[in-house]
Amino acid sequence: MVKIQPDEISSIIREQISNYNKQVKIANIGTVFQVGDGIARIYGLDKVMAGELLEFTDGTVGIALNLESKNVGAVLMGQGQMLQEGSVVHATGRIAQIPVGDQFLGRIVNPLARPIDGQGPLQESQQTRLLESPAPGIIARQSVFEPLQTGLVAIDSMIPIGRGQRELIIGDRQTGKTSIAVDTILNQKGKSVYCIYVAIGQKASSIAQVVSTLKKQGAMEYTIIVAAPADSPATLQYLAPYTGATLAEYFMYKGGHTLVIYDDLSKQAQAYREMSLLLRRPPGREAFPGDVFYLHSRLLERAAKLNKQMGGGSMTALPIVETQEGDVSAYIPTNVISITDGQIFLSADIFNSGIRPAINVGISVSRVGSAAQPKAMKKVAGQLKLELAQFAELEAFSQFSSDLDQTTQNQLARGQRLRELLKQSQASPLSLGDQVATIVAGTQGYIDSIDVDQVGAYLVGLRKFLVNTEYSKTIEETQIYDEAVEKSLKECLENFSLQFSASLNGTGLI
Ligand code: ATP
Ligand code: MG
Repeated sequence: MVKIQPDEISSIIREQISNYNKQVKIANIGTVFQVGDGIARIYGLDKVMAGELLEFTDGTVGIALNLESKNVGAVLMGQGQMLQEGSVVHATGRIAQIPVGDQFLGRIVNPLARPIDGQGPLQESQQTRLLESPAPGIIARQSVFEPLQTGLVAIDSMIPIGRGQRELIIGDRQTGKTSIAVDTILNQKGKSVYCIYVAIGQKASSIAQVVSTLKKQGAMEYTIIVAAPADSPATLQYLAPYTGATLAEYFMYKGGHTLVIYDDLSKQAQAYREMSLLLRRPPGREAFPGDVFYLHSRLLERAAKLNKQMGGGSMTALPIVETQEGDVSAYIPTNVISITDGQIFLSADIFNSGIRPAINVGISVSRVGSAAQPKAMKKVAGQLKLELAQFAELEAFSQFSSDLDQTTQNQLARGQRLRELLKQSQASPLSLGDQVATIVAGTQGYIDSIDVDQVGAYLVGLRKFLVNTEYSKTIEETQIYDEAVEKSLKECLENFSLQFSASLNGTGLI
């Protein structure tokens, strides 16, 4: 009889345990049972996470959005035309993320951060970021205090924007929304602000036009374009703004300043509506799903001015929203107005009457930017705002009466000239010095004696005249408008006004 040796047995078991190195690989696999319209329904995939990336057999990537008791609803980021019922789906275990880095500057990428400008592949990234990373909390932030100048007199003087602010640009179609955003990018040249322009649901030709303007003015070096044109799948149009925010966060958390433009969020909301309806989520107001507010609030909350411990970086967001017939009380406009720190309202009537940029100053506001306005601008802008407000009132009133007293006539004449001052052509941002000079010329009466249609020519001449003057140098350096600066500016204005009137009288001094 063999005696059982417990020691022997346990040593064998121990040995087996220590040699046990079988690799267990758990794959989360599912089967497609319905596919079409950019949506796939998948059976299986029990362990999938919300927002997880899925890989289909034909290489198409999808995102799991609807986790239901018996199936998973996923949106496809491609055509998925080779997918069939019964094909296998792998969950990747990764929440949607993209590579980030400096190498993106100057490039055009799609919402998956893949280059689409034909300039070859991007350098391998060291870092990736989640597309949906949480916004910085309250403690990580500080209040907005540095200006982000747009280079447009009307905005910088009356609706100033600060770094870290969210300012909505809202208006009907073809009222110059994109132009304001592009001018702002152009004005960041040499100011160490990284710009990201996100084009959502636009014609490829419009995007090409923006790119060519930026290239011509040398602004692509510090700009990234994220493009989801009108013919791209709704999923990509939905993701594009998050891609823009993610690329900007890379620079912001490194302590840099960034400007992100979402052009425009109405199209993103429509893409999201399309996806949601296909996923059979219940429709609400205007057929948008119930969480369309969250779609925009979680995006715009990512704009921030970080505190010193966090590196002091900032992300300024300029979302654009298109209105129909100036109706700001529609669903998406009211949502985004309530999320942002103010809005620049563009009106079609003003645009058609030839005042461009067509900013309706009366209903445009900036709730935090005035804290960030340069001192010089703050000093001179108050009077401009007041006189324009009085003019708007008088103009409406004077339409009813024929003979007006001299003071009223003077006020009207002044107002017309001030309105003329605020006109500015595209792609010609102005420096702080030029803006201050323009405003002072108007509010201190230097152009009262000039015909309204000559104001444009006067300003062009004045800006040339100011180049390299003592005034320009001082104000750019100090950003202060004290007595000495005021004196030197007034001297310039007097000299130039003499020159200008002489040239009008035909003596041709300029
Ligand atoms: P869309 O609704 O098509 O996106 P939009 O509101 O973005 O239009 P833009 O494309 O910026 O408007 O401008 C519309 C037209 O107005 C363009 O042809 C542009 O050249 C012109 N425009 C915009 N701003 C100015 C300006 N300051 N001076 C003269 N023309 C301008
Ligand atoms: Mg546009």
